[in-house]
Amino acid sequence: MTIALAIHGGCGTLPKSEMTDAEWAEAKAHLAKSLRAGWAILAKGGSAVDAVEAAVVVMEDSAHFNAGHGAALNADGEHELDASIMDGATLAAGALCAVKRIRNPVTAAKALMRRGDPLLLTGPAGDAFAQAEGLDIVANEHFSTERRRKNLASMKIRELVGTMAGASEAEKHGTVGAVARDQAGHLAAATSTGGYTNKPPGRVGDSPIIGAGTYARDGRCAVSGTGKGEYFIRYCVGHEIASLIGYAGLSLQDAAERAMAELTAHKIGAGLVAIGADGEIVAPYNTGGMYRGWVTPDGLVHVATHADVEVMGQA
Ligand code: ASP
Repeated sequence: MTIALAIHGGCGTLPKSEMTDAEWAEAKAHLAKSLRAGWAILAKGGSAVDAVEAAVVVMEDSAHFNAGHGAALNADGEHELDASIMDGATLAAGALCAVKRIRNPVTAAKALMRRGDPLLLTGPAGDAFAQAEGLDIVANEHFSTERRRKNLASMKIRELVGTMAGASEAEKHGTVGAVARDQAGHLAAATSTGGYTNKPPGRVGDSPIIGAGTYARDGRCAVSGTGKGEYFIRYCVGHEIASLIGYAGLSLQDAAERAMAELTAHKIGAGLVAIGADGEIVAPYNTGGMYRGWVTPDGLVHVATHADVEVMGQA
């Protein structure tokens, strides 16, 4: 059975000129590292669930992406993190929203999924759950980076002078996610985010909403989204793509394009990675760039930030 893995690091990719060559190289190296972490699990017969978790953990720990360390700051200058994971074999899922102290929210989401019930925990209850599970707990400042502090300062200025609409995708948001198919043919998806810069405290996006920013169902597809979460929730994007495949008989590519067209009609930034029942991968986006990557069946790591796709050796 073909194994397959795809990741995204958000559609809030910076314009090329805003980072040095060394910074771009590091961001790409972290995408490749994420793919290798997930692929190593799939290659030795591990589960799609474990693979997407491992891939997302690497991006949560990287300062380049808006999840875990490097997450966006809310209007109070704090980080509130959302994450979820779903097992396409059983439709089991786990999710946390607005948590503040869990180093790797996706790992806590998996622990909650394993627990079975409840599916979604919010805020302090999510943090307490992770602590009780013995997971890594950190101070909220662990997630802060210089870039995110600058993003918040510039969004506050934009708010004051009324130029919010002119903010770049990168200033605003981002997310990380992974989708996988394992040797047994099972699918899984995971997503983790800091939301968007200057979001109101308590705001929850699509990433922890099963069926919106994250969805996996064997025989159909696994999907992880990035972009203006409010619209992913309205269109139940992950579930919509699975339904277009399951009920309307669309191909993965056509279903993903249909969902993207509905989002794009609202002039919002959006992107996603999805994997089909047979391991086919799509990674559409409508912004200037999207951090993304996948491994082809021959084991080659592919990574991209803008239009060009770079091959970064064997997984
Ligand atoms: N989807 C995320 C959210 O709305 C943000 C993003 O991916 O840019 O929280």
